[in-house]
Amino acid sequence: MRAVILTIGDEILLGQILDTNSRYMARELAALGAQTVEMRSVADEKDAIWHAVDEALRRADAVFVTGGLGPTKDDLTKKVLADYFGTELALNAEVYAWLEEMFASNPQRFNDYNKSQAWLPKACVPLRNLKGTASGMWFEKDGKVLVSLPGVPFETEYLFPAEVLPRLKEKFHNLLLRYRMVTVYDIPEAALAMKLAEFEKTLSKNLSLAYLPSVGFVRLRLTAKDEAVAQLDARFEVLLGELAGLSYEEQQGQTPEEEIAHRLRQLEQTVACAESCTGGNIAHLITSVPGASAYFLGGVVAYSNDVKKRILGVHADDLEKYGAVSEPVAVQMAQGALRATGAQWAVSTTGVAGPDGGTPEKPVGTVWIGVAGPNGAKAQKFVFSRTRERNIGRASVKALQLLLAEMEHRQNLL
Ligand code: ATP
Ligand code: MG
Repeated sequence: MRAVILTIGDEILLGQILDTNSRYMARELAALGAQTVEMRSVADEKDAIWHAVDEALRRADAVFVTGGLGPTKDDLTKKVLADYFGTELALNAEVYAWLEEMFASNPQRFNDYNKSQAWLPKACVPLRNLKGTASGMWFEKDGKVLVSLPGVPFETEYLFPAEVLPRLKEKFHNLLLRYRMVTVYDIPEAALAMKLAEFEKTLSKNLSLAYLPSVGFVRLRLTAKDEAVAQLDARFEVLLGELAGLSYEEQQGQTPEEEIAHRLRQLEQTVACAESCTGGNIAHLITSVPGASAYFLGGVVAYSNDVKKRILGVHADDLEKYGAVSEPVAVQMAQGALRATGAQWAVSTTGVAGPDGGTPEKPVGTVWIGVAGPNGAKAQKFVFSRTRERNIGRASVKALQLLLAEMEHRQNLL
């Protein structure tokens, strides 16, 4: 199913608001297995809207429009759509009843402006909006669909899953893509591509493998369309077989920090961090997920030995005896973060990011990563690369990965 997204409104084109509706719908459509081929923002002008709708319907199976539905004069979408689909606006009794119900406790607010929201193009199926007065509209023409939703993001985000997605699944069930994803850690993209070259040759034209590389991991997405959808699961198992010996994890299209968000919310637990060589990058990754305050308590960037001792309670004699880049220090940093914040989980890093500071026993790239939690505390040593940026990036991702593994281990114990 090919989709085009149109957002209507001068506010977007004047730079007064950011078009978040497109991103929202694009994500939902991708998760559904539709392919969005274009996003476009259009002025509040009759001709501009008409032409944009016309062009979009030529290249897509389904067009999603937001904005311009309100009862104010600048909201033209409804009139243009009535015109485009060759009908007129008429009072829709069903929608009128919905509005009456909405204003039942406050009938004096059911004024002419609000009543005018019950006037819809005759050709549409109205979509009930429990979050506002403008109904969504579903049009069909020549096997194609156009959906028009209100501009207010919270109304769109209500209507899309409640009224639009179920109808799309029904109408386009055999036109949807399906995909599965796996994250592979600690292997460069090129090496992975060589390892999978033979597997890729066996894929039919409706099965495709995409590489989505990040620092420290590569995500692989196996996508199937049309008749290949039925083979996806079997082919994905073959792909996992090809990855034997590597460290990998199947994910629902999520990054490690999103996966952590998901698990901690489920467990209703919290996390903190104590970072030396990653310098706050782990805290940055965790807090880049919206809503992180629900499960992230805070972090200490303990770069100097003094801060490791004073704030995290790392023992002076261990620092002396083993050095800052060592197992006991990583363990004590993670434990110190638990004590300092009261979180259930903590991760720590201490290492030689480079380019200077390496020694024969502890070359540049050596990092000890600690995890503390309900299972106790432990640390593991890694030797990453010679490049500072990569060391910081890979140590951060590895720390998140170890935390996920410990959380999973804990869940299995319970
Ligand atoms: P209403 O019935 O509330 O007037 P509407 O369908 O007429 O809704 P608009 O008037 O176009 O929608 O937009 C209403 C408000 O929603 C805008 O002022 C803006 O804050 C927000 N909005 C509109 N379009 C978008 C968009 N694409 N992304 C994010 N916010 C948007
Ligand atoms: Mg409006």
